Amino acid sequence: MNSLDPRSLIAMGGFMALVMGLVLGFMRRYYPPSILGLGYWALAPAVWLIATVFFAAPGPWPQEMGRWLGNGLILLGFVLFHVGCRCFFGQPAKWRRIVVAFALVMLCLAWFTGPEPSYRMRVAIVTAAIAVVHSSTLVFLWLSGNRNFPVRMVQVTLALHLCVLLVRLQSVLSVPEVGDLMDASTVQSFYLGAYVLAVLLLSIGAVLMATDRVRTELEHMATHDVLTGTLNRRAILDFCEDEHERSLRYGQAFSLMMIDLDHFKAINDTHGHQHGDRVLAHFAECTRAALRRADRFGRYGGEEFLVLLPNTATEAALPVAERIRTALTTGHALDCTASIGVTQWRGPEDTVDAMLGRADAAMYQAKERGRNQTCAA
Ligand code: GH3
Ligand code: MG
Ligand code: MG
Repeated sequence: MNSLDPRSLIAMGGFMALVMGLVLGFMRRYYPPSILGLGYWALAPAVWLIATVFFAAPGPWPQEMGRWLGNGLILLGFVLFHVGCRCFFGQPAKWRRIVVAFALVMLCLAWFTGPEPSYRMRVAIVTAAIAVVHSSTLVFLWLSGNRNFPVRMVQVTLALHLCVLLVRLQSVLSVPEVGDLMDASTVQSFYLGAYVLAVLLLSIGAVLMATDRVRTELEHMATHDVLTGTLNRRAILDFCEDEHERSLRYGQAFSLMMIDLDHFKAINDTHGHQHGDRVLAHFAECTRAALRRADRFGRYGGEEFLVLLPNTATEAALPVAERIRTALTTGHALDCTASIGVTQWRGPEDTVDAMLGRADAAMYQAKERGRNQTCAA
């Protein structure tokens, strides 16, 4: 079988690194700053590209020095990819450990380049070092990453490349001397091809991870209220319509709860709007804590909130309302009181609009009766 020319493979890796570096750099510039790690992910292909130059292009530097730097840069690229993953999932990089380990590897490489030249040992050291970096990235993604496709793709790429690296390490250590990097052997082409693929797939994985995060953030922004973190009006009403559909199909009642804060205008007038905002956020936090996972909670208007209780009749909804009112009066500086109107789905003729009207009327009844209480309709 004709093997691919190592120089062509290295050049191909460099070209892919260039393209992916540009894409990731572009994303770093134009994506929201909340997406962390893109800078490191963009730097990794840039570093791999420079490594390509040191490996493949004859320069004014001695060949051995070019190889030493090239190896170091390839390792650095994988380290930067690892740091990018950590930042992306909100964990700081362990820089001190990284710098010490990297310096040690470079020193060992220098030793086997100058005083004790051994191509075999250099290959073993770089391969082992990259394997360690891959392993720690894999463990990190396993423990702290999510289970989405892009993360899975990166994990699979790392695992496969790790296998190739371990095979290479084993074979390098088991023979007295290995062929040169530029030898056009099948084995050499296999290792280089695996490297090129890893560079490409890891960079694509980074692009997909960032894009997936942007999509999730946009989705969250489109469905949630900024101040309170609750669902916004459209989203909570969508959930109500979905639940209504389910009730029509399965005949199970659900309840709606309209909550309006008492004398909120007075709170604003007395303590200022910003204090009012903090009261709203505190109210949302307390209410969320009092609800179950399946319940949905959204901001219906200024200081009016709507709670959807799936699979719940009025009798079961009333204790939930009381739980919310209790959670609001624990002696916290931002505590407030609320009037609550509760209603349940009454059967196939009932609509979400009609339910909202009844919950609203019940809430006003609670206001008329003296506020800080719950009424059912
Ligand atoms: P009641 O007990 O009858 O409900 O009296 P209230 O003062 O709560 O009722 P009203 O509807 O008159 O006042 C609601 C106030 O809520 C008026 C509005 O300025 C304020 N508000 C609405 N949205 C926000 C917000 O996002 N932040 C702040 N700080 N205030 C808001
Ligand atoms: Mg009010
Ligand atoms: Mg109101």
